[in-house]
Amino acid sequence: MSKLHLITYGCQMNEYDSERVAGLLGKQQYELTDRPDDADVILLNTCSIREKAEDKVFSQLGALRHLKRARPDLVIGVMGCMAQLQQGRIQERAPHVDLVFGSPAIARVGELLARVKAGHGPVLEAGEGPLLKITDRPSVGARLKAFVTVMEGCEKHCTFCVVPTTRGRERSHAPGIIVEEIRGLAAAGCKEVTLLGQTVNAYGRDLMPPTDLAALLEQVNDIDGIERIRFTTSNPYNLTARLIHAIRDVPKVVEYLHLPLQSGSDRILARMHRGYTRARYLDLIEELRDTVPGIALSTDLIVGFPGETDEDFAQTVDTVERVEYDNAFVFRYSRRPGTPAAAMPDQVPDAVKASRNTVLLEVATRVAARRSRGLEGRTMPVLVDGTSRKNPREATGRTRCNRVVNFDAGGRDLLGRVVSVRITQALPHSLRGEPDGAAA
Ligand code: SAM
Repeated sequence: MSKLHLITYGCQMNEYDSERVAGLLGKQQYELTDRPDDADVILLNTCSIREKAEDKVFSQLGALRHLKRARPDLVIGVMGCMAQLQQGRIQERAPHVDLVFGSPAIARVGELLARVKAGHGPVLEAGEGPLLKITDRPSVGARLKAFVTVMEGCEKHCTFCVVPTTRGRERSHAPGIIVEEIRGLAAAGCKEVTLLGQTVNAYGRDLMPPTDLAALLEQVNDIDGIERIRFTTSNPYNLTARLIHAIRDVPKVVEYLHLPLQSGSDRILARMHRGYTRARYLDLIEELRDTVPGIALSTDLIVGFPGETDEDFAQTVDTVERVEYDNAFVFRYSRRPGTPAAAMPDQVPDAVKASRNTVLLEVATRVAARRSRGLEGRTMPVLVDGTSRKNPREATGRTRCNRVVNFDAGGRDLLGRVVSVRITQALPHSLRGEPDGAAA
Protein backbone atom coordinates (compact mmCIF):
# COMPACT_ATOMS: atom_id res chain seq x y z
CA MET A 1 0.00 0.00 0.00
CA SER A 2 1.22 3.53 -0.82
CA LYS A 3 0.09 6.56 1.14
CA LEU A 4 -1.68 9.59 -0.29
CA HIS A 5 -2.04 12.97 1.43
CA LEU A 6 -4.60 15.28 -0.18
CA ILE A 7 -4.88 19.01 0.55
CA THR A 8 -7.99 20.68 -0.84
CA TYR A 9 -8.51 24.42 -1.37
CA GLY A 10 -11.53 26.26 -2.73
CA CYS A 11 -15.06 25.31 -3.63
CA GLN A 12 -17.28 22.26 -3.16
CA MET A 13 -16.41 21.16 -6.67
CA ASN A 14 -12.80 20.81 -5.56
CA GLU A 15 -13.90 18.77 -2.55
CA TYR A 16 -15.78 16.50 -4.92
CA ASP A 17 -12.77 16.22 -7.27
CA SER A 18 -10.50 15.33 -4.33
CA GLU A 19 -12.88 12.54 -3.34
CA ARG A 20 -12.82 11.23 -6.88
CA VAL A 21 -9.01 11.23 -6.93
CA ALA A 22 -8.90 9.44 -3.57
CA GLY A 23 -11.41 6.90 -4.90
CA LEU A 24 -9.52 6.30 -8.14
CA LEU A 25 -6.16 5.96 -6.40
CA GLY A 26 -7.76 3.78 -3.71
CA LYS A 27 -8.30 1.21 -6.45
CA GLN A 28 -4.57 1.41 -7.20
CA GLN A 29 -3.48 0.56 -3.67
CA TYR A 30 -3.21 4.07 -2.28
CA GLU A 31 -4.63 4.74 1.18
CA LEU A 32 -5.29 8.19 2.59
CA THR A 33 -3.12 9.63 5.36
CA ASP A 34 -3.59 12.97 7.14
CA ARG A 35 0.16 13.27 7.72
CA PRO A 36 2.26 14.81 4.93
CA ASP A 37 5.47 13.39 6.46
CA ASP A 38 3.98 9.90 6.20
CA ALA A 39 2.89 10.19 2.55
CA ASP A 40 4.39 8.78 -0.64
CA VAL A 41 2.32 11.18 -2.72
CA ILE A 42 1.08 14.65 -1.75
CA LEU A 43 -1.53 16.26 -4.00
CA LEU A 44 -2.69 19.86 -3.65
CA ASN A 45 -6.09 20.48 -5.20
CA THR A 46 -6.01 24.19 -5.91
CA CYS A 47 -8.22 27.23 -6.44
CA SER A 48 -7.58 30.29 -8.63
CA ILE A 49 -10.69 32.30 -7.96
CA ARG A 50 -8.85 34.96 -5.96
CA GLU A 51 -5.16 35.79 -5.63
CA LYS A 52 -5.22 34.96 -1.91
CA ALA A 53 -6.18 31.35 -2.69
CA GLU A 54 -3.16 31.04 -4.99
CA ASP A 55 -0.83 32.62 -2.42
CA LYS A 56 -1.86 29.94 0.10
CA VAL A 57 -0.87 27.20 -2.34
CA PHE A 58 2.51 28.73 -3.09
CA SER A 59 3.28 29.05 0.61
CA GLN A 60 2.18 25.43 1.20
CA LEU A 61 4.43 24.32 -1.67
CA GLY A 62 7.28 26.23 -0.05
CA ALA A 63 6.65 24.45 3.25
CA LEU A 64 6.77 21.07 1.51
CA ARG A 65 10.16 21.72 -0.06
CA HIS A 66 12.10 20.37 2.95
CA LEU A 67 10.13 17.09 2.84
CA LYS A 68 11.05 16.61 -0.80
CA ARG A 69 14.69 17.42 -0.03
CA ALA A 70 14.75 14.80 2.74
CA ARG A 71 12.90 12.21 0.62
CA PRO A 72 13.50 12.75 -3.09
CA ASP A 73 11.17 9.85 -4.01
CA LEU A 74 8.19 11.71 -2.48
CA VAL A 75 5.86 12.80 -5.31
CA ILE A 76 4.36 16.28 -5.03
CA GLY A 77 1.52 17.12 -7.39
CA VAL A 78 -0.66 20.16 -8.07
CA MET A 79 -4.13 19.62 -9.50
CA GLY A 80 -7.21 21.77 -10.11
CA CYS A 81 -7.65 25.34 -11.30
CA MET A 82 -4.09 26.60 -10.68
CA ALA A 83 -2.75 23.72 -12.75
CA GLN A 84 -4.64 25.18 -15.68
CA LEU A 85 -3.88 28.84 -15.08
CA GLN A 86 -0.49 28.96 -13.39
CA GLN A 87 1.44 26.05 -14.83
CA GLY A 88 4.46 28.20 -15.76
CA ARG A 89 4.59 29.97 -12.40
CA ILE A 90 4.34 26.67 -10.52
CA GLN A 91 7.34 25.28 -12.41
CA GLU A 92 9.25 28.52 -11.82
CA ARG A 93 8.42 29.05 -8.13
CA ALA A 94 8.21 25.39 -7.07
CA PRO A 95 10.56 23.31 -9.23
CA HIS A 96 10.23 20.44 -6.71
CA VAL A 97 6.68 19.79 -8.00
CA ASP A 98 6.64 16.55 -10.02
CA LEU A 99 3.14 16.61 -11.44
CA VAL A 100 0.70 19.30 -12.58
CA PHE A 101 -2.71 18.34 -13.95
CA GLY A 102 -6.06 20.05 -14.50
CA SER A 103 -9.53 18.72 -13.66
CA PRO A 104 -10.12 17.21 -17.14
CA ALA A 105 -7.18 14.84 -16.50
CA ILE A 106 -8.46 13.51 -13.16
CA ALA A 107 -9.56 10.22 -14.72
CA ARG A 108 -5.90 9.58 -15.66
CA VAL A 109 -4.36 10.40 -12.28
CA GLY A 110 -3.10 6.81 -11.79
CA GLU A 111 -1.36 6.77 -15.15
CA LEU A 112 0.15 10.24 -14.58
CA LEU A 113 1.55 9.18 -11.20
CA ALA A 114 3.00 6.03 -12.76
CA ARG A 115 4.76 8.19 -15.34
CA VAL A 116 6.31 10.33 -12.60
CA LYS A 117 7.39 7.24 -10.66
CA ALA A 118 8.95 5.77 -13.79
CA GLY A 119 11.20 8.82 -13.87
CA HIS A 120 9.39 10.67 -16.66
CA GLY A 121 8.77 13.78 -14.57
CA PRO A 122 7.92 16.53 -14.28
CA VAL A 123 4.60 15.58 -15.89
CA LEU A 124 2.34 18.41 -17.09
CA GLU A 125 -1.23 17.83 -18.27
CA ALA A 126 -3.50 20.82 -18.77
CA GLY A 127 -5.61 20.28 -21.89
CA GLU A 128 -9.34 19.58 -22.19
CA GLY A 129 -10.16 15.87 -22.14
CA PRO A 130 -13.29 13.88 -22.93
CA LEU A 131 -16.21 14.39 -20.51
CA LEU A 132 -16.02 11.51 -18.04
CA LYS A 133 -18.19 10.89 -15.00
CA ILE A 134 -15.96 9.40 -12.36
CA THR A 135 -18.03 8.09 -9.49
CA ASP A 136 -15.25 6.45 -7.45
CA ARG A 137 -15.01 7.62 -3.87
CA PRO A 138 -12.84 6.49 -0.99
CA SER A 139 -14.46 4.00 1.36
CA VAL A 140 -14.62 6.10 4.52
CA GLY A 141 -17.77 4.50 5.92
CA ALA A 142 -21.29 5.83 5.61
CA ARG A 143 -21.61 9.48 4.64
CA LEU A 144 -24.78 11.43 5.30
CA LYS A 145 -24.18 14.17 2.78
CA ALA A 146 -22.43 14.18 -0.56
CA PHE A 147 -21.61 16.55 -3.39
CA VAL A 148 -22.37 15.38 -6.91
CA THR A 149 -21.09 17.35 -9.88
CA VAL A 150 -23.78 17.38 -12.57
CA MET A 151 -21.97 19.63 -15.03
CA GLU A 152 -18.44 20.82 -15.66
CA GLY A 153 -17.13 24.19 -16.85
CA CYS A 154 -18.76 27.57 -17.36
CA GLU A 155 -19.65 29.71 -20.35
CA LYS A 156 -20.83 32.84 -18.63
CA HIS A 157 -17.66 34.90 -19.11
CA CYS A 158 -18.24 37.29 -16.22
CA THR A 159 -15.45 39.82 -16.70
CA PHE A 160 -13.95 39.17 -13.22
CA CYS A 161 -13.85 35.39 -13.33
CA VAL A 162 -11.21 32.82 -14.31
CA VAL A 163 -13.51 29.79 -14.21
CA PRO A 164 -14.15 29.58 -17.98
CA THR A 165 -10.35 29.41 -18.42
CA THR A 166 -9.68 26.97 -15.59
CA ARG A 167 -12.63 24.62 -16.00
CA GLY A 168 -13.39 24.94 -19.70
CA ARG A 169 -16.70 25.06 -21.50
CA GLU A 170 -20.04 24.01 -20.06
CA ARG A 171 -20.73 20.28 -20.33
CA SER A 172 -23.57 18.45 -18.58
CA HIS A 173 -23.44 14.83 -17.47
CA ALA A 174 -26.32 12.64 -18.63
CA PRO A 175 -29.18 12.36 -16.09
CA GLY A 176 -28.97 8.54 -16.08
CA ILE A 177 -25.33 8.56 -14.91
CA ILE A 178 -26.08 11.14 -12.20
CA VAL A 179 -29.08 9.18 -10.93
CA GLU A 180 -27.03 5.98 -10.86
CA GLU A 181 -24.31 7.70 -8.82
CA ILE A 182 -26.85 9.05 -6.32
CA ARG A 183 -28.57 5.65 -6.05
CA GLY A 184 -25.18 4.20 -5.07
CA LEU A 185 -24.68 6.94 -2.48
CA ALA A 186 -28.19 6.38 -1.06
CA ALA A 187 -27.58 2.63 -0.83
CA ALA A 188 -24.46 3.41 1.23
CA GLY A 189 -26.46 5.56 3.69
CA CYS A 190 -26.33 9.04 2.14
CA LYS A 191 -29.37 11.21 2.97
CA GLU A 192 -28.57 14.55 1.39
CA VAL A 193 -27.04 15.43 -1.96
CA THR A 194 -25.89 18.77 -3.29
CA LEU A 195 -25.88 18.93 -7.07
CA LEU A 196 -22.96 21.02 -8.26
CA GLY A 197 -22.33 23.15 -11.33
CA GLN A 198 -20.85 26.61 -11.93
CA THR A 199 -24.22 27.58 -13.43
CA VAL A 200 -26.16 24.59 -12.20
CA ASN A 201 -29.48 26.04 -13.34
CA ALA A 202 -28.22 25.92 -16.95
CA TYR A 203 -27.95 22.12 -16.55
CA GLY A 204 -28.91 19.99 -19.51
CA ARG A 205 -29.25 22.50 -22.33
CA ASP A 206 -26.16 21.07 -24.06
CA LEU A 207 -27.44 17.47 -23.93
CA MET A 208 -29.15 15.61 -26.75
CA PRO A 209 -32.10 15.67 -26.22
CA PRO A 210 -31.87 18.80 -24.08
CA THR A 211 -33.21 18.65 -20.54
CA ASP A 212 -33.13 20.95 -17.50
CA LEU A 213 -32.43 21.06 -13.78
CA ALA A 214 -36.12 20.85 -12.84
CA ALA A 215 -36.39 17.50 -14.66
CA LEU A 216 -33.22 16.24 -12.99
CA LEU A 217 -34.51 17.26 -9.54
CA GLU A 218 -37.66 15.19 -10.14
CA GLN A 219 -35.58 12.14 -11.01
CA VAL A 220 -33.35 12.53 -7.96
CA ASN A 221 -36.46 13.00 -5.83
CA ASP A 222 -37.55 9.46 -6.75
CA ILE A 223 -34.42 7.86 -5.27
CA ASP A 224 -35.25 5.96 -2.08
CA GLY A 225 -33.14 6.91 0.93
CA ILE A 226 -32.37 10.46 -0.20
CA GLU A 227 -34.15 12.92 2.11
CA ARG A 228 -32.90 16.27 0.88
CA ILE A 229 -31.70 17.76 -2.38
CA ARG A 230 -29.69 20.99 -2.63
CA PHE A 231 -28.09 22.54 -5.71
CA THR A 232 -25.54 25.28 -6.30
CA THR A 233 -24.53 27.68 -7.87
CA SER A 234 -27.47 29.25 -9.67
CA ASN A 235 -27.08 32.26 -11.92
CA PRO A 236 -29.93 34.81 -11.90
CA TYR A 237 -29.74 35.02 -15.70
CA ASN A 238 -30.82 31.38 -16.05
CA LEU A 239 -33.39 31.29 -13.24
CA THR A 240 -36.69 30.15 -14.75
CA ALA A 241 -40.23 30.03 -13.38
CA ARG A 242 -40.08 26.28 -14.02
CA LEU A 243 -37.17 25.89 -11.59
CA ILE A 244 -38.81 28.14 -8.99
CA HIS A 245 -41.89 25.91 -9.17
CA ALA A 246 -39.70 22.82 -8.83
CA ILE A 247 -38.29 24.24 -5.57
CA ARG A 248 -41.88 24.51 -4.34
CA ASP A 249 -43.26 21.26 -5.78
CA VAL A 250 -40.48 18.64 -5.65
CA PRO A 251 -40.76 17.45 -2.04
CA LYS A 252 -37.10 16.66 -1.30
CA VAL A 253 -35.78 19.91 -2.79
CA VAL A 254 -35.12 22.25 0.11
CA GLU A 255 -36.47 25.80 0.43
CA TYR A 256 -33.09 27.42 0.04
CA LEU A 257 -31.38 29.11 -2.87
CA HIS A 258 -27.91 30.55 -3.30
CA LEU A 259 -28.29 33.29 -5.89
CA PRO A 260 -25.16 35.42 -6.41
CA LEU A 261 -25.97 39.09 -6.90
CA GLN A 262 -22.32 40.30 -7.12
CA SER A 263 -23.37 43.98 -7.23
CA GLY A 264 -26.53 46.03 -6.74
CA SER A 265 -25.50 48.66 -9.30
CA ASP A 266 -26.69 48.33 -12.90
CA ARG A 267 -23.56 50.07 -14.15
CA ILE A 268 -21.29 47.57 -12.39
CA LEU A 269 -23.47 44.58 -13.32
CA ALA A 270 -23.13 45.59 -16.98
CA ARG A 271 -19.34 45.93 -16.63
CA MET A 272 -19.29 42.52 -14.96
CA HIS A 273 -21.26 41.11 -17.91
CA ARG A 274 -23.75 39.46 -15.58
CA GLY A 275 -26.71 39.70 -17.96
CA TYR A 276 -29.29 41.07 -15.50
CA THR A 277 -30.16 44.35 -13.84
CA ARG A 278 -30.91 45.11 -10.21
CA ALA A 279 -34.64 45.44 -11.08
CA ARG A 280 -34.67 42.04 -12.80
CA TYR A 281 -32.90 40.46 -9.81
CA LEU A 282 -35.39 42.01 -7.38
CA ASP A 283 -38.28 40.73 -9.54
CA LEU A 284 -36.83 37.23 -9.29
CA ILE A 285 -36.59 37.54 -5.52
CA GLU A 286 -40.23 38.63 -5.37
CA GLU A 287 -41.26 35.65 -7.52
CA LEU A 288 -39.22 33.31 -5.29
CA ARG A 289 -40.73 34.65 -2.08
CA ASP A 290 -44.27 34.59 -3.50
CA THR A 291 -43.94 31.04 -4.83
CA VAL A 292 -41.91 29.46 -2.03
CA PRO A 293 -42.98 31.09 1.25
CA GLY A 294 -40.20 31.10 3.85
CA ILE A 295 -37.46 30.39 1.30
CA ALA A 296 -33.97 31.16 2.62
CA LEU A 297 -31.66 33.07 0.30
CA SER A 298 -27.91 33.49 0.26
CA THR A 299 -25.62 35.33 -2.11
CA ASP A 300 -22.11 36.26 -3.24
CA LEU A 301 -21.07 39.92 -3.40
CA ILE A 302 -17.94 41.54 -4.79
CA VAL A 303 -16.74 44.88 -3.45
CA GLY A 304 -14.25 47.11 -5.25
CA PHE A 305 -14.87 45.90 -8.79
CA PRO A 306 -13.06 48.29 -11.20
CA GLY A 307 -14.91 51.58 -11.49
CA GLU A 308 -17.15 50.96 -8.44
CA THR A 309 -18.02 54.36 -6.94
CA ASP A 310 -19.47 55.13 -3.52
CA GLU A 311 -22.87 55.47 -5.23
CA ASP A 312 -22.53 52.00 -6.87
CA PHE A 313 -21.54 50.52 -3.53
CA ALA A 314 -24.53 52.20 -1.83
CA GLN A 315 -26.77 50.42 -4.35
CA THR A 316 -25.29 47.08 -3.30
CA VAL A 317 -25.87 47.85 0.39
CA ASP A 318 -29.44 48.88 -0.40
CA THR A 319 -30.11 45.68 -2.37
CA VAL A 320 -28.81 43.53 0.51
CA GLU A 321 -31.17 45.34 2.89
CA ARG A 322 -34.10 44.86 0.55
CA VAL A 323 -33.54 41.19 -0.23
CA GLU A 324 -32.86 40.26 3.41
CA TYR A 325 -30.44 37.42 2.76
CA ASP A 326 -30.04 34.66 5.32
CA ASN A 327 -26.36 34.57 4.49
CA ALA A 328 -24.00 36.60 2.30
CA PHE A 329 -20.43 35.89 1.20
CA VAL A 330 -18.54 39.12 0.61
CA PHE A 331 -15.38 39.13 -1.51
CA ARG A 332 -12.93 41.92 -2.30
CA TYR A 333 -12.41 42.08 -6.04
CA SER A 334 -9.22 40.26 -6.97
CA ARG A 335 -7.50 40.99 -10.29
CA ARG A 336 -7.25 37.68 -12.17
CA PRO A 337 -4.82 37.27 -15.04
CA GLY A 338 -6.35 37.16 -18.49
CA THR A 339 -9.80 38.38 -17.43
CA PRO A 340 -11.27 41.56 -19.01
CA ALA A 341 -11.75 43.28 -15.64
CA ALA A 342 -8.06 42.91 -14.81
CA ALA A 343 -7.28 45.21 -17.74
CA MET A 344 -9.87 47.85 -16.82
CA PRO A 345 -8.11 51.14 -16.04
CA ASP A 346 -10.10 52.28 -13.01
CA GLN A 347 -8.98 49.73 -10.39
CA VAL A 348 -10.18 50.48 -6.85
CA PRO A 349 -7.50 50.99 -4.16
CA ASP A 350 -7.10 48.18 -1.60
CA ALA A 351 -7.98 50.48 1.32
CA VAL A 352 -11.33 51.33 -0.29
CA LYS A 353 -12.04 47.64 -0.94
CA ALA A 354 -11.22 46.86 2.70
CA SER A 355 -13.52 49.50 4.12
CA ARG A 356 -16.41 48.57 1.79
CA ASN A 357 -15.87 44.94 2.75
CA THR A 358 -16.24 45.83 6.45
CA VAL A 359 -19.35 47.93 5.87
CA LEU A 360 -21.08 45.31 3.72
CA LEU A 361 -20.26 42.50 6.14
CA GLU A 362 -21.78 44.52 8.99
CA VAL A 363 -24.96 45.12 7.00
CA ALA A 364 -25.19 41.47 5.87
CA THR A 365 -24.65 40.23 9.45
CA ARG A 366 -27.32 42.55 10.81
CA VAL A 367 -29.81 41.45 8.14
CA ALA A 368 -29.04 37.75 8.70
CA ALA A 369 -29.47 38.15 12.47
CA ARG A 370 -32.91 39.65 11.86
CA ARG A 371 -33.82 36.66 9.69
CA SER A 372 -32.54 34.28 12.39
CA ARG A 373 -34.63 35.90 15.08
CA GLY A 374 -37.64 35.39 12.81
CA LEU A 375 -37.11 31.63 13.17
CA GLU A 376 -37.45 31.67 16.98
CA GLY A 377 -40.52 29.78 18.12
CA ARG A 378 -40.85 27.84 14.88
CA THR A 379 -40.60 24.05 14.70
CA MET A 380 -38.40 22.71 11.92
CA PRO A 381 -37.11 19.34 10.72
CA VAL A 382 -33.38 19.02 11.45
CA LEU A 383 -31.19 16.40 9.76
CA VAL A 384 -28.73 15.42 12.49
CA ASP A 385 -25.18 15.19 11.16
CA GLY A 386 -23.05 15.03 14.31
CA THR A 387 -22.55 16.14 17.88
CA SER A 388 -21.91 19.72 18.87
CA ARG A 389 -18.21 20.56 19.10
CA LYS A 390 -18.73 22.46 22.34
CA ASN A 391 -20.95 19.93 24.08
CA PRO A 392 -20.94 16.22 23.16
CA ARG A 393 -24.36 15.77 24.80
CA GLU A 394 -25.81 18.00 22.12
CA ALA A 395 -26.75 16.92 18.64
CA THR A 396 -26.08 19.22 15.71
CA GLY A 397 -27.75 19.32 12.34
CA ARG A 398 -29.24 21.55 9.69
CA THR A 399 -32.68 22.78 8.83
CA ARG A 400 -33.90 22.52 5.25
CA CYS A 401 -33.07 26.23 4.98
CA ASN A 402 -29.45 25.35 5.82
CA ARG A 403 -29.27 26.76 9.36
CA VAL A 404 -27.13 24.95 11.94
CA VAL A 405 -29.20 23.90 14.97
CA ASN A 406 -27.83 22.51 18.24
CA PHE A 407 -30.09 20.78 20.74
CA ASP A 408 -29.93 18.39 23.70
CA ALA A 409 -30.14 14.85 22.35
CA GLY A 410 -31.07 13.43 25.75
CA GLY A 411 -28.42 10.72 25.44
CA ARG A 412 -29.88 9.34 22.18
CA ASP A 413 -27.81 8.62 19.08
CA LEU A 414 -29.70 10.60 16.46
CA LEU A 415 -27.08 10.62 13.71
CA GLY A 416 -28.75 10.53 10.30
CA ARG A 417 -32.24 11.01 11.74
CA VAL A 418 -34.59 13.88 10.93
CA VAL A 419 -35.75 15.38 14.21
CA SER A 420 -38.47 17.94 14.68
CA VAL A 421 -36.91 20.77 16.68
CA ARG A 422 -38.46 23.92 18.14
CA ILE A 423 -36.12 26.87 17.74
CA THR A 424 -35.62 28.57 21.10
CA GLN A 425 -32.79 31.03 20.46
CA ALA A 426 -30.97 32.62 17.53
CA LEU A 427 -27.21 32.95 18.13
CA PRO A 428 -24.81 34.74 15.74
CA HIS A 429 -23.75 31.59 13.86
CA SER A 430 -26.29 28.97 14.83
CA LEU A 431 -29.69 28.31 16.35
CA ARG A 432 -30.52 26.59 19.61
CA GLY A 433 -33.56 24.39 19.94
CA GLU A 434 -35.33 21.61 21.77
CA PRO A 435 -36.71 18.40 20.28
CA ASP A 436 -40.41 18.60 19.71
CA GLY A 437 -41.76 15.03 19.55
CA ALA A 438 -40.10 11.88 18.26
CA ALA A 439 -37.28 11.44 15.73
CA ALA A 440 -38.61 10.51 12.33
N1 SAM B 1 -20.27 30.49 -11.06
C1 SAM B 1 -20.86 31.13 -9.96
C2 SAM B 1 -21.49 32.45 -10.42
O1 SAM B 1 -21.21 32.97 -11.46
O2 SAM B 1 -22.29 32.99 -9.68
C3 SAM B 1 -19.91 31.33 -8.77
C4 SAM B 1 -18.55 30.70 -8.78
S1 SAM B 1 -17.23 31.43 -7.88
C5 SAM B 1 -16.40 29.97 -7.55
C6 SAM B 1 -17.77 31.95 -6.31
C7 SAM B 1 -17.73 33.42 -6.09
O3 SAM B 1 -16.42 33.94 -6.08
C8 SAM B 1 -18.42 34.25 -7.17
O4 SAM B 1 -19.81 34.21 -7.07
C9 SAM B 1 -17.86 35.64 -6.92
O5 SAM B 1 -18.61 36.36 -5.96
C10 SAM B 1 -16.48 35.34 -6.33
N2 SAM B 1 -15.42 35.69 -7.30
C11 SAM B 1 -15.19 35.17 -8.51
N3 SAM B 1 -14.16 35.81 -9.12
C12 SAM B 1 -13.73 36.77 -8.25
C13 SAM B 1 -12.72 37.76 -8.29
N4 SAM B 1 -11.94 37.92 -9.36
N5 SAM B 1 -12.56 38.55 -7.22
C14 SAM B 1 -13.34 38.42 -6.12
N6 SAM B 1 -14.32 37.51 -6.04
C15 SAM B 1 -14.53 36.69 -7.08
